[in-house]
Amino acid sequence: MKMSYIQEFRGKLKVLGSGLRIGGSKEGVSIGETDNPIIRHPITNVPYVPGSSVKGKIRSLLELKYCSDTQQTGLPCTCGECLVCQLFGCGKAQNIRTPSRLVFRDCQPTEETLGAWQQGGTDSEIKTEVLIDRNKGLAYGRIGPRTMERIPAGSDFNFSFSLRVFDGDNVAEYYDFLAEGFELLSKHYLGGSGSRGYGEVLIVAEDGTPMHEFLRRKAEELRSS
Ligand SMILES: [Zn+2]
Repeated sequence: MKMSYIQEFRGKLKVLGSGLRIGGSKEGVSIGETDNPIIRHPITNVPYVPGSSVKGKIRSLLELKYCSDTQQTGLPCTCGECLVCQLFGCGKAQNIRTPSRLVFRDCQPTEETLGAWQQGGTDSEIKTEVLIDRNKGLAYGRIGPRTMERIPAGSDFNFSFSLRVFDGDNVAEYYDFLAEGFELLSKHYLGGSGSRGYGEVLIVAEDGTPMHEFLRRKAEELRSS
């Protein structure tokens, strides 16, 4: 297969309404630290949003809608033929028919967001949650509250992804399919604890319109050209 070009898309990932939690790992717990830290850059220690988190979430939402294998097994689709496998890749070597097309970059905070964090004196929010005993209405057992670290609502991250286009690809169809993925993400959530309100995000294109609307317009332009 001959690659014809790589199309880049840039925009912003906006954390809306409530905090965003993408878990990191911790090496040890010291006093005053949260039990559940967010992921941070290993050197600068600044919070970021991994491209793999965005890619994986959009993929999984599309699989739940379109891939019967996933609906049965809960695992990523490995058919090698569907739009998910063509765009996001196929994890089963013997089924690979085509190279994967999408790359999602890690999302670093924008200059404005870094400024706002600096001004506020913090780049994250520590949220305390507690399990309530249904009969007593008090904290269950003597289990103390757990703390969850989140990226504060109102933070913006630079976002970009690219699509490799091969000869013969139906690019308009890819744009429409991706648009659906971005729209599902905006209606669902990113990161952890979404059912408790975390992770409401919107990805916008470089002109500020939601990425799903931008991609649908691009698909329309391609069809009418
Ligand atoms: Zn597939």
